[in-house]
Amino acid sequence: MTNSQQNNVDLNEVAKFEALASRWWDTENEFKPLHDINPLRTGYINEHASGLNGKKVIDIGCGGGILSEAMAKLGANVKGIDMGEAPLAVAKLHLEESKLDIDYEKITAEEIAEREAGQYDVVTCLEMLEHVPDPASVIKACMTLAKPGGHVFFSTINRNPKAYLFAIIGAEYILNMLPKGTHDYAKFIQPAELNSYARNAGLEVDHMTGMTYNPLTKVYKLNDKDVSVNYLMHTKKP
Ligand code: SAH
Repeated sequence: MTNSQQNNVDLNEVAKFEALASRWWDTENEFKPLHDINPLRTGYINEHASGLNGKKVIDIGCGGGILSEAMAKLGANVKGIDMGEAPLAVAKLHLEESKLDIDYEKITAEEIAEREAGQYDVVTCLEMLEHVPDPASVIKACMTLAKPGGHVFFSTINRNPKAYLFAIIGAEYILNMLPKGTHDYAKFIQPAELNSYARNAGLEVDHMTGMTYNPLTKVYKLNDKDVSVNYLMHTKKP
């Protein structure tokens, strides 16, 4: 690890999100893709966790709180953690508008796992693993945070030529959906790799689904048969 990667945090990666934080809730700019996929992924989590209402949830790498808020709206008791100062400030400020009650904290997944092991019904870690030096360590922390029988969700981007074309060339260079340099191809994670990280951490892999984007219709869909670019995984702690 280099100096900027202490505690499994890549400060260059976190800085990318710090720089954009003020526009986190702007649904027409850099975070539009996250806003657009949010109902799909929230619905998936709610369904696979047998309902979020009343559940104790932790959102790892919560950023400005797009997913955290959607889960709180469904009645979950949500805590959000991130290592970005500015995204967390934006997340806290947005609570004034949404009138939701979410506990945000700047801490790493590994550190909170030491403090709050076995306390959560549901753990979510979406669009974050591809920004950390050691994703397996974050996955292990997510497992530790879950109660026995708890649900742990991950999402990331697959690593193959199509994913390179869609997630980097398409999204960053052609469609200008994301700032150039948002994603680093080498950090993308293949489903088999995520599967083995999850199993090595002691999680049971329950289900996987793709999130496909049609650039012509601009519509995202969940598709169990296509995990070639963006995908979501549902795992359980035994
Ligand atoms: N999960 C949110 C935000 C995804 S953006 C969503 O899907 O809506 C990625 C987030 O991961 C950013 O907020 C960034 O600050 C955070 N992040 C990157 N590395 C991190 C680390 N090592 N620990 C905690 N958060 C991290």
